[in-house]
Amino acid sequence: MKVSYKITAVLVLAVSAFIVVYTGLSFKSMYRDDVIVPGPSVKEVKMLSDYFEGLKGTAGDTEVYVLEGEEPGGTLLFLGGTHPNEPAGFMTAVLFIENAVVEKGRIIVIPQADKSGFTANDPQEASPQRYSFTTAGGSKRTFRYGARATNPLDQWPDPDIYVNPSDQTLSGSETRNLNRCYPGRPDGTLTEKIAYGIMEAIRKENALVSIDLHEASPEYPVINAMVAHEKSIDLASIAVLELELEDIKIRLEKSPPTFYGLSHRSWGDYSDTWPILMETANPSQGRLRSKTNEALVLTGKDPWYVKAQKLGKLYVPFDENGHPIEERVGRHSSSVQAVIRAMEYFFPPEQTIMVSEVPGFNELMANGMGSYLNEPAE
Ligand SMILES: [Zn+2]
Repeated sequence: MKVSYKITAVLVLAVSAFIVVYTGLSFKSMYRDDVIVPGPSVKEVKMLSDYFEGLKGTAGDTEVYVLEGEEPGGTLLFLGGTHPNEPAGFMTAVLFIENAVVEKGRIIVIPQADKSGFTANDPQEASPQRYSFTTAGGSKRTFRYGARATNPLDQWPDPDIYVNPSDQTLSGSETRNLNRCYPGRPDGTLTEKIAYGIMEAIRKENALVSIDLHEASPEYPVINAMVAHEKSIDLASIAVLELELEDIKIRLEKSPPTFYGLSHRSWGDYSDTWPILMETANPSQGRLRSKTNEALVLTGKDPWYVKAQKLGKLYVPFDENGHPIEERVGRHSSSVQAVIRAMEYFFPPEQTIMVSEVPGFNELMANGMGSYLNEPAE
C-alpha cells in the first residue's frame, strides 16, 4: 500500500513539474520581440520614452518608426497594436514600415502601441500565440497574437471600478485597456503612462492627423468603419468617398462627444491633431466563432459566422470566403492612404504628404501578405 502511494506521489509531482516547465517556457516565448525589417523611408527608430521619460525601462516602452521624405511636408501619425489581439492594425503598421516610400512629409508609425499586451494572451479565449506568413524569398515571418489589454503581470491588481482620466467610471478591467485611458496620466498606471506618452508624441511631433487602427468581432455594430472626431469628420468623409470609388465600402461614424478616454475623442480634445479610428472585422476575436487557431486569424473563414449571417445577426457580410487578413489589412492600408490623399483638400501644400509603394486592398488580395514582407536579416 505504502509503496503505491509513493509511486502515485512521484508521478503527480513529475506531471506537475512537466506542466510548470512546459507552460513556463510557453509563457516566456511570448517575450521574444516581433521582428520588423525597416524599409527605404525609415529615417529613425525612436522609443515612446523619448517623448515621455516616465516610460523608460518599463514594459510600456515601445518603438516609434519615423518615415520621412526628401521634401518637407506635413506629419501623420498612426498606431497599430492598441489592442494586440487585433492583428490587422499591427500588420498594417508593419506593411507601411517595410514598404512605404515617402516622397514628401513624414509618417510616424507606432506598430505596437500597447507592447505589454503582446506578451500575453487573453485568459479563456484559446487564442493562438502566433501566426506566420511566407515571404517571396521563402522565409517564414512570425508575429505574436497578443491580448486585448496590458499584461496583468505589468499592472495589477485591477480596481473594482476604473475612473479614467476624464472621470468616467468603467468596469475595473478597462484600467488596462489603452483605448479607455486617454489623455493618460504621467503619474498614473502603466497603461495611463502609455496613453500619456502617445499624446506627447502626437503633440511634440505636430501630427496634423492621427489614426488608431483596430479590429472588432463581426457581431459588433461599428465595423468596416471610420470613427472621426468633429475636427476630422470632413477629411474622413472625402476619404470614404474616394474608397467608395475603389469599391471599398467603409461606414463613417461621428465620434460621440462623451466617449472620453477613447483615441477618436480624447486625442482631438487634448491636442491639435485630427483623430480617426478605423475598424475591420476579425472573426478570431468574436464571441460566435468556432475553432480558434492560426488558420482563423489568417483566413477569417468560420462556418458559425456564415450561419450567424444567414440569421441576420451580423453587421458585415459573411460568406464561405470569410474575412482574410489580406482583406482586413488591405482596408486599413487603402483607408490610411485615402486619408493622406484627402489631406490635400484641408491643409496648405507645404503640409501635405506623398507616399507610394504601400500595397492597398487589391494588391494584397491578389498577391497575399507574405509577398510584401521583407526578408529578415542574417
Ligand atoms: Zn480594438
